[in-house]
Order: sequence, then structure tokens, then C-alpha cells
Amino acid sequence: ASFEDFKFNKQILNAITEAGYEVPTEIQKKAITPILAGQDVMGIAQTGTGKTAAFVLPMLMKLKYAQGTDPRALIITPTRELAMQIDENIKQFTTYLDIRTVLLFGGLGPKTQKEQLEKGCDIIVATPGRFLELYLEGHINTKSLKFLVMDEADKMMDMGFISKIHRILEIVPRKRQNLLFSATMSELVRKIAGDFLAFPTLIEV
Ligand code: AMP
Repeated sequence: ASFEDFKFNKQILNAITEAGYEVPTEIQKKAITPILAGQDVMGIAQTGTGKTAAFVLPMLMKLKYAQGTDPRALIITPTRELAMQIDENIKQFTTYLDIRTVLLFGGLGPKTQKEQLEKGCDIIVATPGRFLELYLEGHINTKSLKFLVMDEADKMMDMGFISKIHRILEIVPRKRQNLLFSATMSELVRKIAGDFLAFPTLIEV
């Protein structure tokens, strides 16, 4: 299999080549097609398997270009480090795309993050607490969200984010595509998956 087998545009294929990716990893081979087809996906994959690109690439393909001021994709992740890694990955693949990403996490003042939100964005990568804080203060409009991604769901549960996740599920549009990734499958992960995925394609690597 090669990246050319997916229906990616030239801009994305060029960025993939420049990133040095030659062949898709196992999770990418299995996840990209159903995500492009609009299905909900639950992916069980460890860090290091290429899971980030597995959801970022098809998401970018579907978002295509900057549109309006409100975010269309929300990626929720448990830690600042992970949020930064995902943001880096997105940057790598948006070299030739006009897609704006805002990175939100706690531990530092929200001023710059608010200013970035003010300018408009297509993708938000965020930790749950800071996302909700800025949402409640009126800095984020969720009405245009089409994608909801939860990365490292198991870690999210371990860190006690379950009520924040439920709160987020209450404020996003009902009709949307959901992707959940977790390194392990547990009772709590199964439950949170059941709370927000609709007839998901299950992928394990
Ligand atoms: P992840 O599991 O998403 O944290 O990715 C682990 C590392 O593998 C990151 O440094 C990615 O840039 C890299 N990577 C992801 N997909 C590929 C690929 N198809 N070919 C080569 N490297 C990749």
C-alpha cells in the first residue's frame, strides 16, 4: 500500500513526502479509508504507531481549506505534551494547505490563546480543562464542529477527565464525525466510546 492509494490531494501528498513518510503504517492503512468515508472510528493503537497522522491526514483532506471563523474540528487530548505533538504533526501537513490551528492548554495565561481564537481557526487541539474554560467565557463557538477526536482516551480516563468529556459532549453539535484513539481497551474506555461514537469501525493494531 502507498499514500497514493488514498484520495489525498496533491498538497497533502507533497507534505507527506516531505515529512519522509514512504509507506502508511498499519493503523494508517486501516483507519484512513473509513475516516475519509465519514465513519466513526475507534482505534486501539499505542503511541509510535503513527496514529496521529492516521486521523490528521483524512481530517485535513475533509476540511480542505480555511472556512469562516468557527472551528470545524476539535481534538481533545489529555496532556499539554500530547497537544503540542499533535499540533506539530498538523503543521507538518498543512504546509501547502490554508488551514488554521489553535493550540489550547492550561498552565499558562490564556491571553495569546484568546487572541488566536479571535482571529478564527479551523482546528482546535486542546486539553479538556482549558477548552471548557475558554468555551464558558464565550471565546469558542462550537456550532460548526464537524469532527470530534479524542486521543489517548485511556489516559484521559486515568486523569479523571470523564465529567469534562461529558460536558464537552453536551456542547458539540449532535451531527458530527467522531474518532477515538486509545492505547488500551478498558471498561471506562468502552463506556466513554459508547457515550460518543455512533456505530464505530473498530481498528486494532
Ligand atoms: P505517533 O504514533 O502518531 O505519535 O507517530 C510516531 C512517529 O512516527 C512520529 O514521529 C511520526 O511523524 C512518525 N510517522 C507516522 N507515520 C509515519 C509513516 N507512515 N512513515 C514514517 N514515519 C511515520
